[in-house]
Amino acid sequence: MARPIKFTLSVLLACAAVHTILPPITASNSAYPSSYGLETTTDDLIPVRREVYGDGRIFDISHRYHPDMPNWGSSDGIGQFLWLPYSMKNNSEANNSQMKLPTHTGTHVDAPGHVFDHYFDAGFDVDTLDLEVLNVDFSGKQKKMKALIVLLVCTELLSSALSSADDAYPTGYGDEGACLNNIGNLRPERREVYEGGEIIDITHPFTPETPVGTPDGIGEYLTLLLSMKNGSDYNFSELKIPVHSGTHVDAPGHMYDHYYDAGFDIDSLDLRVLNGPALLIDVPRDKNLTAEVMKSLNIPRGVKRVLFRTLNTDRRLMLKKEFDTSYVGFMKDGAQWLVDNTDIKLVGIDYLSVAAFVDLIPSHLVFLESREIILVEGLKLDGVQPGIYTVHCLPLRLLGAEGSPIRCILIK
Ligand SMILES: [Zn+2]
Ligand SMILES: [Zn+2]
Repeated sequence: MARPIKFTLSVLLACAAVHTILPPITASNSAYPSSYGLETTTDDLIPVRREVYGDGRIFDISHRYHPDMPNWGSSDGIGQFLWLPYSMKNNSEANNSQMKLPTHTGTHVDAPGHVFDHYFDAGFDVDTLDLEVLNVDFSGKQKKMKALIVLLVCTELLSSALSSADDAYPTGYGDEGACLNNIGNLRPERREVYEGGEIIDITHPFTPETPVGTPDGIGEYLTLLLSMKNGSDYNFSELKIPVHSGTHVDAPGHMYDHYYDAGFDIDSLDLRVLNGPALLIDVPRDKNLTAEVMKSLNIPRGVKRVLFRTLNTDRRLMLKKEFDTSYVGFMKDGAQWLVDNTDIKLVGIDYLSVAAFVDLIPSHLVFLESREIILVEGLKLDGVQPGIYTVHCLPLRLLGAEGSPIRCILIK
């Protein structure tokens, strides 16, 4: 196994090196549509798009989504993938986009159900993928190697299973493989806490009942464009969701239309803010997040990321499809207090909006004005001990979007 591992690592390093020598993409060399307004902005309103961060400790190796991005089986690229049903130019109080993407577009991941229909039927979807395999560098070299080996074994078994003629249906390709232990009974394991809390998934899974600001939830959000039951060689879905549903992140363009026009979209968010040490704290359950409450929390200077757990978690609001306006969030004075008296740049909360419903717009405006604070909403914080963690939050690189689904995990 030594050689393939070495090869994989060197490919990864080579990719990283390529990214290092590319200049940061700015408005001036962006090939992207002027409809996003990048060319009409003044110098002080140009978003910085980074893929390598100053100290070289973060490399973004995902491609950004844009209309010319290649699309499997098509010569036209993915085309339009964002719509703006609620636009501030049409007197909405906020910009609210919808996204639609084939799930195998751009930088993406395959689940077992992609090419095995019985796995598809049994629920081996992307929500069952092992976060220890996808995030391997936290608990020592041994574990890292083990994860790589498991990944390679699986890959090899998969490719040999695929190439071994037309054996119709493989009868389970890996009685011997460590990666396949739980496939025998065809029941996927869905984990949110790994190995006593090394990794905690604080993202809600998308379901038709995932809440958005309506009575019905997001509804059917996946369409199976190509199905093995209809003779296709693989299953291939399309995803359609409002970008502010479920666990998601807001960009400055969500409630400032001149930021929207200037391109302060999800792709411009700072990954150094979205990844790093974070505090998870409980707030008093009987009130909104006011200045008084914020002051009482005594959050020390220097703390940059805080996830606020509120009554919303106790009430399990994210598990109810009906939008509930009685949720708890920041009042304008609480937001202002945080901006003026703390160093917090990442604000996380456990319902669809960081702002209380009665101060929905004003609180957002206070947070988003500087374009330095990132708001992560709809986090899944039940059952997690308050304390210090490392948070990793990664949004999709949706060019032009003022919101995006985001995957957040805590690592101890
Ligand atoms: Zn939002
Ligand atoms: Zn928001």
